[in-house]
Amino acid sequence: MNVKETKLFLQELHTFPRKHLGQNFLINSQLSRKIVCEVKQTKGPWIEIGPGSGALTRLFSEEEKKILTLIEKDKKIANYWKEKNYSVLMQDALKIHWTKLPYFTTLFGNLPYQIAGPLLLKTSVFSKQMDTMILMMQKEVSLRVRAKPKTKDYGLLSVIAQTFWHIQWIAEAGTQDFYPPPKVAGHVLRFQAKISPVPGNEFLTFLKSCFAQRRKKLIHRLPISLSQAETLLSEINRNTNTRAEELTPEEFIFLFQEIQSRKSSQD
Ligand code: SAH
Repeated sequence: MNVKETKLFLQELHTFPRKHLGQNFLINSQLSRKIVCEVKQTKGPWIEIGPGSGALTRLFSEEEKKILTLIEKDKKIANYWKEKNYSVLMQDALKIHWTKLPYFTTLFGNLPYQIAGPLLLKTSVFSKQMDTMILMMQKEVSLRVRAKPKTKDYGLLSVIAQTFWHIQWIAEAGTQDFYPPPKVAGHVLRFQAKISPVPGNEFLTFLKSCFAQRRKKLIHRLPISLSQAETLLSEINRNTNTRAEELTPEEFIFLFQEIQSRKSSQD
C-alpha cells in the first residue's frame, strides 16, 4: 500500500487516521514484504494485530487467508475485513485471553505505538501457545526490550522479554515509512519462544517488586528476611548494595527459583 492507496482506503471507509488507535499505516512495500516473508516462514495458523489498511494483510493469498485471524479494535476497519471474508476478532488486543484462543504459531503486526510494551508483557507471561512473534514497535520499546543490565533502558520489560524469548532485530522503519508519519522510528523484531524456565505470572509479580523503586537496594525488595537475602545475593557474587538494574535475567531467575523453593520447603 502506498500513500495514495492508503488515503483511498480511508476515504472509502469515510474515516481518517486516528491518533488514539496509533493509526500510522505502513507505506513502504519492501518493508511490508519483509515482515510478511518472516511470518510465512512459520507454518501458521497466524494472528495479525491491527490490519488497518492491509499493508501486511493483503500480502497473503486466498489459500493462506484460511489460516489467518485478524484482531482489530476499529469497528469500521474490522467490518471492512469481515466483508472481505477474513476471520476477524473485533477486539482490543490488550483484552484478549490468549490462552482461550485456538492454537496458533505466530503473532504479528505493525503495533499501535502505545500497546507494544503492555502487549509484550501479556503475551510473555500468559501465553504458552505461540512460538513466534514478528512485531513492529516503537524504537524506544525495542531498545528497552533488548537492553543489557546497567543501562538506562534496562528494566522489567527487558528481563521479561529476554526470559521468555530469543529476540532478533529484523529491520528499521523511518517515520517516512508511515502515513501519517509518527514522531518516532520503529523496529521490527522477531521473538522466538524459549522453554519457559519459570511460571510467568509469579515471576512478573516478583520482578514488579524488585523494580518497584529503582533507587532502592534490591536486598530490601526481596520477599525474604534480610539475612536470607544477604546470603542469597552473595551466592551470585552480589552484595547488600546491589540494585535491581544490575542483575541479568538469569540472576533474577536464580533468585526467584531459590526463594520459591525455600517457601515450598517451609509449607
Ligand atoms: N498493519 C497496518 C496498520 C497499522 S496501524 C499497517 O501496517 O499499515 C495500527 C492498527 O492497529 C490500526 O488498524 C488500529 O486501528 C489497530 N489498533 C489500535 N489499537 C488496537 C488494539 N488495542 N487492539 C487491536 N487493534 C488495535
